[in-house]
Order: sequence, then structure tokens, then C-alpha cells
Amino acid sequence: VKPERPADPPEESEAETVRISSRDRVIFPESGQTKGDLADYYARIAPLMLPFLSGRPVSLVRCPQGRAKKCFFQKHDTGGFGDHVHHVPIREKDGGTEDYIYVEDATGILACVQMGTIEFHGWASRSRDVEAPDRMIFDLDPDEGLDFEDVKSAAVDIRDRLAEIGLTSFAMLSGGKGVHVIAPLRPGHSWEAHKDFAKRFSEALAMADPDRFTATMSKAKRKGKIFIDWLRNQRGSTAVVPYSARARENAPIAAPIAWGELKNMASAHEFTIDDAKKLLTRAGGKGLSGWGFADQSLPDL
Ligand code: ATP
Ligand code: MN
Ligand code: MN
Repeated sequence: VKPERPADPPEESEAETVRISSRDRVIFPESGQTKGDLADYYARIAPLMLPFLSGRPVSLVRCPQGRAKKCFFQKHDTGGFGDHVHHVPIREKDGGTEDYIYVEDATGILACVQMGTIEFHGWASRSRDVEAPDRMIFDLDPDEGLDFEDVKSAAVDIRDRLAEIGLTSFAMLSGGKGVHVIAPLRPGHSWEAHKDFAKRFSEALAMADPDRFTATMSKAKRKGKIFIDWLRNQRGSTAVVPYSARARENAPIAAPIAWGELKNMASAHEFTIDDAKKLLTRAGGKGLSGWGFADQSLPDL
């Protein structure tokens, strides 16, 4: 009797329970990918994406008629998402409470895609304790006309400054113009401490290197510089989730990359929804295994 080979994990089976309508509808007119192509991308990539998406309140970018038509951000369930898109009540600034949506499996992702979702943006905390942020993001936004080389060196500088204070960080191509530098954190500090740290860290960088960086959102002060967008780190803000597709030309995705390969990247949109196979292979490789995970707390500075 031959020994039985262990079964492969059921990667795509779950997603088959969501029926995707209008599979042939073109969502990315410049490059031709359809709603079916987008759904297939998410079905394959779900095991890689879920560790970063599962349980987080999300904002969806929905473009039911494709990326070149009307798109909108959606944080609340207005109906039609089904049982795999969950709700978590979150206290609002005005004292009221609103139900936010989150997913925790491939079926939930596909239910959102069926509703015209292209992008997934996540909170920096999870629904089981939305008051406890667990990742810090420095979203590098280059002024128009800046070279991508400048963005890359800025990302490396931020990595080094974070390392000096004991924080491991990871790089992600946003799928748009910039790079996100992400430091996972053990929950246990407040939103106020989280935001305050991000602000002071970014302002210190801008102060030390005012020709390259600004920590102020104002467009006028951004001329020729990189805006270190630390505002992603406040309660209620979101950032695009690793492996999310983007509603931009040619169907790019937000791509985790190893620090060592950043220098070889020509732009922030090097990977697209056509690259599911490549992304799955890459994720198992040495450079990317463990990407996005580090057991560390916000330093007491
Ligand atoms: P790029 O590299 O081109 O800057 P990005 O994803 O970083 O891509 P930003 O414009 O810098 O895009 O925005 C950062 C994040 O802010 C977005 O990923 C999104 O989560 C959030 N965001 C931006 N605009 C909105 C909006 N209108 N409503 C909700 N969230 C938004
Ligand atoms: Mn950005
Ligand atoms: Mn930004």
C-alpha cells in the first residue's frame, strides 16, 4: 500500500461558493482585464492576503462599471453583500455608533468583488479590539515629477531610522506612485500614542532633511519633496491592504517586496492582477517569507 500524500490545502474551493455575475465585463479598459479576471486573481491570492485583511474594518473602493467610470469608497453595508461580509459596531466621534464591514475568508473577499469592489483598504486595528492599533504605516507620497529613485531611498532611510529605535519594517509598492513602509506592532497602546509617535517620527525626519521630506499635508509645502503621510495612523484612517488590486490603469496591485529587491523596482506598480502565479511563488521564497510579521511593541520615546 502506497503511503498517502497529504492533501493540498483547499485554496480556491471556498471561493467557489460566490457566484460572480458579468464575468466578461471589462473593469480595466486600458489593459482589458474583466470582472472574472479580477475575481480569479482574488480567489488565488486570498491565502496570501487574508493575514493582512482578516478581521480589519475595511473601506472598499467599488467601481461597478469599471475603473474608468464612477468609483466610490464604502465603509458600511448598504445591503447585498451576503453572510460572509461581517459587521462590527464602531463608536463615532459624535458619540453614535456605526456598523463597519470586515471579511475573514476568501468567500468574503469574493462577495465584495461580486459587488464591484476593486480595492480593499484596512484599518490599523482589528474588529475584536478596534481601539488597539497593531501596525504603523509611513505612506510615502512623492510630489509630482519626483523620480521613483527618490522614493526608494526615502523608504530605506525610514527603515534605517526605525531600526535604530528597534523596529523592524517592511516595504510595499502601493500599486500607485509611492511606497509604504510598514511596522507591525503588538497591540497594547492607544490610538493617541500611535498617532503621536507617527507624527513625531515623521516631523523629526522632515526637520533633519527638509529638502527631501515634508510631514505637512499642504500641497504647496510639498514642492519637489516626499510627503511622509503619517496620517494613515489615526483612528478611522485606512491604508490599502497588501495584495489589494488598485483601481488604476493596467490593474496594478499593492505588492509586498523584500528590502533587497527594492533597488530593482522601476516603479510602484510593477505587479498586476495578471501576476497571481508569480506572487504566490514569490511569497514562498526566502526574501518574502515572514513579510509583514514582527513581534514588537511601540517604543516608549
Ligand atoms: P499612492 O502610492 O499613489 O499614494 P496610496 O494608496 O498610498 O497610493 P494615497 O492617496 O496616498 O494612496 O492614500 C493613502 C491611503 O489613504 C489610501 O490607500 C486609502 O486607504 C486612504 N484614502 C485616500 N483617499 C481616501 C478617501 N477618499 N476615503 C477613504 N480613504 C482614503
Ligand atoms: Mn500614498
Ligand atoms: Mn497618502
